[in-house]
Amino acid sequence: MALLQIAEPGQSPLPHQVKRAVGIDLGTTNSLVAAMRGGRATVLPDESGAVMLPSVVNYSADRPPLVGMGAVELGVHRPADTLMSIKRFMGRGSEDALADAQRSRYRLAEGQGLVRFVTSGGEVSPVEVSADILRVLRRRAVDTLGGDIDGAVITVPAYFDEAQRQATKDAAKLAGLRVLRLLNEPTAAAVAYGLDSAEEGVIAVYDLGGGTFDISILRLQKGVFEVLATGGDTALGGDDLDAALADWVLEESGSPTLTAGQFRQLQAASRAAKERLTDQQEVDIDLQGVLPAGGTLRITRDTFEGLILPLVKRTLRACRKCLRDAELEAAVDNIVMVGGSTRVPLVREAVGEFFKRSPLIDIDPDQVVAIGAAIQADILAGNRPEGDLLLLDVIPLSLGIETMGGLVEKIVPRNTTIPVSRAQEFTTFKDGQTALAVHILQGEREMVSDCRSLAHFELRGIPPMVAGAARIQVTFQVDADGLLNVSAREAITGAEASITVKPSFGLSDEEITGMLQASFSHAAEDKEARKLAEERLAAWQLLEGLKSALKADGEALLSAEERAAIAGQMTDLQALVEGQDAQAIHTQTEQLGRLSEAFAARRMDKSIRQALAGVSLDSLDDEVTP
Ligand code: ADP
Ligand code: MG
Repeated sequence: MALLQIAEPGQSPLPHQVKRAVGIDLGTTNSLVAAMRGGRATVLPDESGAVMLPSVVNYSADRPPLVGMGAVELGVHRPADTLMSIKRFMGRGSEDALADAQRSRYRLAEGQGLVRFVTSGGEVSPVEVSADILRVLRRRAVDTLGGDIDGAVITVPAYFDEAQRQATKDAAKLAGLRVLRLLNEPTAAAVAYGLDSAEEGVIAVYDLGGGTFDISILRLQKGVFEVLATGGDTALGGDDLDAALADWVLEESGSPTLTAGQFRQLQAASRAAKERLTDQQEVDIDLQGVLPAGGTLRITRDTFEGLILPLVKRTLRACRKCLRDAELEAAVDNIVMVGGSTRVPLVREAVGEFFKRSPLIDIDPDQVVAIGAAIQADILAGNRPEGDLLLLDVIPLSLGIETMGGLVEKIVPRNTTIPVSRAQEFTTFKDGQTALAVHILQGEREMVSDCRSLAHFELRGIPPMVAGAARIQVTFQVDADGLLNVSAREAITGAEASITVKPSFGLSDEEITGMLQASFSHAAEDKEARKLAEERLAAWQLLEGLKSALKADGEALLSAEERAAIAGQMTDLQALVEGQDAQAIHTQTEQLGRLSEAFAARRMDKSIRQALAGVSLDSLDDEVTP
């Protein structure tokens, strides 16, 4: 895969004009802001010295939203007003998010469309909650850097789709931040570790945070990174380790019914116990105020590891799949650990065993993403005239459009490096067709019905022509943030239409995994379906062409017998097209094609003779346009 260098237009700065650019890790659990200070990227602390801002916001009717630690404390008493792990809801529809919302005990606003939460402070969307978190980080940066921020690089999980990325950008805009670039989190971690190093090799970035898991495979060559593949699970993280422990506590205590507040307490107690088990072999969980019965419960690290082993194994399965996608010849040379959950000893062991290498843990796994984002922000703001390279990301699922017969023509294949622009030429299917419906799809399967529909638009104003004569160029552009723009342009008239894809619902990781798995397990079936659709299409085209030819020249160029023979075969083919037998359609199409060859030849002779005789183009048009 070729590595493209991205030139940022209009961003070559004057020598002394250093821009204030920050990197923001907008995490599910914790958010951080970092910037270059004294030549080094460092995370910025708040006035009490804390660098991690819990991604938690409490809403109340009588004061502005409270963000961070204070909100976490209130959360125990006011669970429905205290929104946490909100990143899981970014860019998702209400129906889609219902189960997650119920699990978190939030109240969802009625109605379709994007998720909104009902709080005492009013209804808020995940975008607004994220904006409240970003505002606090922006203020912190302004205070520490001593002036307004010129731009920010904000990180997102590699699996975020267009809607989720757009939602993140919207949140930044609401918070008054100019987004220089959205950057995949694992990519940012690689920047933090690698851009200054001259080492060569292949690197896996394993990021297990609070709510998401990402795995990326990168190749480092001559000091430049190339992203080979990404994978992961947007619904797996430290929260799930907490939940596994909480379930165990409940089971051990005879499954009592909890209030929402007690449930929060239990979550907090489980998380604290989990974190202590990182350094200790056994810990006591204090259940006072957590369970109706109170008391304490002792758990050993062994027991805990038994509880979380299935979750750790799930991450390794995703690693295996990503390695397959990366098509490596040799083993991975380095593993970068990212995210607070990679502190869990079992996770480190399992990852080391899987890749047969000890993972790198030199940079604080909580800070590594923000640090990498700050380095990228510095480059993008133009503070490094020496031309450091930017990292490139890949798209997680193929993008394409619907063609005749319900088939999907892939235009940008999965794992293509972005930004990317790919064009393909299409044509009309019917004589005199003046509009073209463009249906944009995402997925790996062959048939439209098995892929995810992203958007529809129409190109109008195509001049009437014979089927197949129009040249319509369809261009897919995915920008560096992963946002898709599709345009269609007709060559003769220059008629043009385009759309920026902002699907209203995000894809969950299960859906992505499911779609990929389906594309593998249905490969044979898909080939059959594709063959049938293609045969049908060829038959339709022949039938359509013959119909208009017969109308124009049937009487003049064919005997009654010839006409009857062709009509008979056409009826047969028409019947077969409705059926499922691809081979029979193929045979009959060929037969009808041979039978009508002489007719086609006579028509061609006739038009050549007419052309030589100087017959006006208008009358020719009449003949071919039904
Ligand atoms: P995110 O990127 O989702 O915001 P982070 O990278 O900040 O998440 O990781 C937060 C997760 O890390 C939480 O689930 C937290 O409990 C977990 N974590 C933090 N410290 C430890 C530790 N010492 N041992 C185990 N887990 C930890
Ligand atoms: Mg993280």
